[in-house]
Amino acid sequence: MANNFIKGSRNFASLFCLGIRNLPRVTTQKWVGQTGKTTYRCMTTIVDPSLGLTDDQREFQRVALEFAKNELAPEMQKWDQEETFPVDVLKRLAGLGFGAIYAKEDHGGSGLSRLEASVIFEALSTGCVSTTAYLSIHNMVAWMIDEFGSEELRERFVPELASMQSQSVGLETKLKVFLNMTTYANTLPLPGDIFCTFLDTLKFGSYCLTEPGSGSDAASLSTTAKRDGDHYILNGSKAFISGGGDNDVYIVMVRTGEQGPKGISSVIVEKGTPGLSFGKKERKVGWNSQPTRAVIFEDCRVPVSNIVGYEGQGFSIAMHGLNGGRINIASCSLGAAQASIVQAVEHAKVRKQFDRPLAENQNTQFKLADMATSLVTSRLIVRQAARALDNKSPEAPTLCSMAKLFATDHCFQICNEALQIHGGYGYLKDYPVQQYMRDCRVHQILEGTNEVMRLIISRNLLQSS
Ligand SMILES: Cc1cc2nc3c(=O)[nH]c(=O)nc-3n(C[C@H](O)[C@H](O)[C@H](O)COP(=O)(O)OP(=O)(O)OC[C@H]3O[C@@H](n4cnc5c(N)ncnc54)[C@H](O)[C@@H]3O)c2cc1C
Repeated sequence: MANNFIKGSRNFASLFCLGIRNLPRVTTQKWVGQTGKTTYRCMTTIVDPSLGLTDDQREFQRVALEFAKNELAPEMQKWDQEETFPVDVLKRLAGLGFGAIYAKEDHGGSGLSRLEASVIFEALSTGCVSTTAYLSIHNMVAWMIDEFGSEELRERFVPELASMQSQSVGLETKLKVFLNMTTYANTLPLPGDIFCTFLDTLKFGSYCLTEPGSGSDAASLSTTAKRDGDHYILNGSKAFISGGGDNDVYIVMVRTGEQGPKGISSVIVEKGTPGLSFGKKERKVGWNSQPTRAVIFEDCRVPVSNIVGYEGQGFSIAMHGLNGGRINIASCSLGAAQASIVQAVEHAKVRKQFDRPLAENQNTQFKLADMATSLVTSRLIVRQAARALDNKSPEAPTLCSMAKLFATDHCFQICNEALQIHGGYGYLKDYPVQQYMRDCRVHQILEGTNEVMRLIISRNLLQSS
């Protein structure tokens, strides 16, 4: 119950700030990081991600940037090359309240807004896109159960997903969060983690919609859930599931009724349920710090009480989850683009050809100007979409699609241009720009491809004219 403890009788933001007051003071405009061979600085420039944020939002951002700098950036290349899923680091992020950022507070969520979640995911992504992107999927799962699940399901799953570990840890978890929040800056690894390591049981979530035969046309899914007394019997398989095999809580979209979206329901399947198995770990271009596997159901019996919402509501729940998911993924692209620009500027100032720094070529200057303009424009649309979701605007789903389309396309382009500015060095795995580019590429494909985003946007235009 991480966040119940954090908040207690006081305001979350002020306690959050209290917990991090021992962090080394950095201005929000200036920080220094180290990834691989490149040291980079975020200068006070127009790409400053804190522009326009409130004081509380700047504090959340500052904590996330510090975490990115200290604990993600130094490891991101190693995790990529060794395909490591950094579960301990993810648990520490949950300890800071980032496991269920926009789930309600009564069962351990942090109760923050979508805009604040976007700011946090963007900041964390400057340190590792792939790890942050997984965290964003976990957050989507926690929110879906919190928003649509029965009180019993909320009570059972949300606290565990918020802390990313089993609630059997109980009191020790609370102590761990307290220790981590108050002494985070001074001691690594965190004292609470050392104290509780022997007690920990992971609780990580996965979102299971895609199937081998249904990707973009998700409503045609064919995994079935047939009622048998007080159980559903699941048969079928899901493809490309992030966290698949390693994770514990799977929210699975299944067919309980007619063809099309209205015959789909969402059920929770826990790891260890007989009839649940996993495919081989996929080999990927990027997103290597999180496993991706097929999730297979063979006469898998799941209690009817594990249904999230009601029968036939599953597709709507899945799409509601994706609205926020699209903002989150777009935010991860913003962080990658931000880090890539900082590194490109640094490289352009230092690298000399024809007896002068690359930065003195007008071509390089114009390229950097275009990259910065693309980043700031992408951030504006992502934050506008996040605000629309916070305000429950009827236009929110379309704005989320626009934000995902625009930001993931443009930020990928920014990462690619940053690689180009690095010349041959950009193509070497010693330099992080190539990893930001590889990790960002998949954002144009998943949580609805960018072609599907265009379908959603054009449908909105055509049906209202
Ligand atoms: C690393 C990774 C992690 C993933 N994680 C998850 C996860 O955790 N959970 C999950 O459920 N899914 C996940 N996915 C799946 C992802 O959401 C799908 O890959 C995506 O929705 C596209 O489906 P598809 O791959 O079947 O492509 P297809 O649907 O076969 O599309 C192929 C191409 O055709 C285009 N296309 C299709 N239909 C149209 C149309 N009507 N008009 C125009 N163009 C069209 C598409 O845009 C695309 O370019 C993940 C995928 C990857 C690669």
